[in-house]
Amino acid sequence: MRSICHFTKRFPTSLPFRRKWSSQRLLTLAIETSCDDTSVAILEKKNNSAIIHFNEKVTSDNRSYGGVHPLVAVESHQRNLATLVNKAMQSLPVVYSQDIKMLHVEGCRRHKPDFVTVTRGPGIRAALITGLEMAKGLSVAWQVPLLGVNHMQAHALTPRLVNALAVDTLRDEGLVQISPDKKSIAASRPEFPFLSLLVSGGHTMLVHSRSLCDHEIIASTTDIAIGDMIDKCARVILPPAYLDTAKDVMYGKLLEEFVFPNKLSTYDYAPPSSFTRTRIPSDLAYDWVISAPYSNPGDRGSIAYAGSFTYSGIDSSVRRVVKKRPDMGDEERRILGKAAMEVAFEHLASRVLFALGRPDMKDIKTLVVSGGVASNRYLKEVLRRNLDDKGYSPDRLELAFPPPEYCTDNAAMIAWTGMEMYEAGWRTKLDALVERRWPIDPRADGGILGLDGWERLNT
Ligand code: AMP
Ligand code: ZN
Repeated sequence: MRSICHFTKRFPTSLPFRRKWSSQRLLTLAIETSCDDTSVAILEKKNNSAIIHFNEKVTSDNRSYGGVHPLVAVESHQRNLATLVNKAMQSLPVVYSQDIKMLHVEGCRRHKPDFVTVTRGPGIRAALITGLEMAKGLSVAWQVPLLGVNHMQAHALTPRLVNALAVDTLRDEGLVQISPDKKSIAASRPEFPFLSLLVSGGHTMLVHSRSLCDHEIIASTTDIAIGDMIDKCARVILPPAYLDTAKDVMYGKLLEEFVFPNKLSTYDYAPPSSFTRTRIPSDLAYDWVISAPYSNPGDRGSIAYAGSFTYSGIDSSVRRVVKKRPDMGDEERRILGKAAMEVAFEHLASRVLFALGRPDMKDIKTLVVSGGVASNRYLKEVLRRNLDDKGYSPDRLELAFPPPEYCTDNAAMIAWTGMEMYEAGWRTKLDALVERRWPIDPRADGGILGLDGWERLNT
């Protein structure tokens, strides 16, 4: 049976509004399978504005393991990737003219992607393979180029995607008339160089992005990631009945909701004079403390630690407290959760402030904060207050928090990275393999372009 062709709001059927596909328009289908999310996106870019036609993900259920189990993640990709790609195909823009490359999808003529983008690394090897092999298959079947991109580069470029999306939405909604000139200025923001804090379940990194493929890692974790630490703390701090309500392993989100049940608009927070202070609960009935990372007397203020984060100590402190006080009431649990978050977030602020003091940071006007932990409102407060306190007011350093759907793992950011790399002339050869560890810093093994499998067109 011939199925019905669904036209989206952006592609009305009435003739005057039909869009002609022009050669400056680029369309990609992108796949992300580096960890536990199976995600597929379709992104269109014209000049500096972008439209997402599709961006969905399925997250594997790892609750019984308390964290991501590679085999569970891989099985979930195998179950869901083909189905998601099939669904995405139905969101490819509808074709009206005969002279462009098209695909027939359930009785509709749809625009064939100009290239296929996929995460090539870093990540769980077997998980990455499921995505890369699917992408190679599509690229061969459609006879279009393949772009195998770096997941961490995609996180770093996400604010540029968000900005490009905003340009189109504002114009579509008729809210602003943007001249072509102003549009291109707006769409290239944040301009290089900018700083990014990537705070997720798998990463804690402060990155200095100088250009598309030049991202210097200024600080990274020496042990566990901040999201991992918060999840581990949440599992012991949250009352068992509360924990049972978890629908996924994002325990950090639950911890924030538990600690701040009233969704405060203002917080009772004062920046510390020193980032090595110990958090003592205000209620002196409690006899525990949470120490800041690197707060041993020998470490104090040491510049040698400016390039590293450490989070396993906070996790151990929290465990010790809970073990000592197994019958802890909800109020004390809230205070403990707040103390753990505060120390963890101030540790981030300390590395940002160290970095901003470097002579080569004079041009930095934006700090992008992305990754799952960036959706924590208390983090926003702690960062802003500490920056203000040290003279980096909003007019000197803007804090940008991309919406959570784009700064947690997703295929739209992979698609955008594919767009930027494609336009710079890069293509990936069909014999390219996945890469479990793939630095984005050119000073480390050549970084993004140091991996074999790239070829460049004469642009
Ligand atoms: P990602 O690795 O980017 O997908 O993000 C997942 C991580 O972000 C997990 O460790 C979550 O617990 C953490 N996370 C998500 N929301 C919050 C929140 N509101 N507060 C703290 N951590 C969070
Ligand atoms: Zn990620």
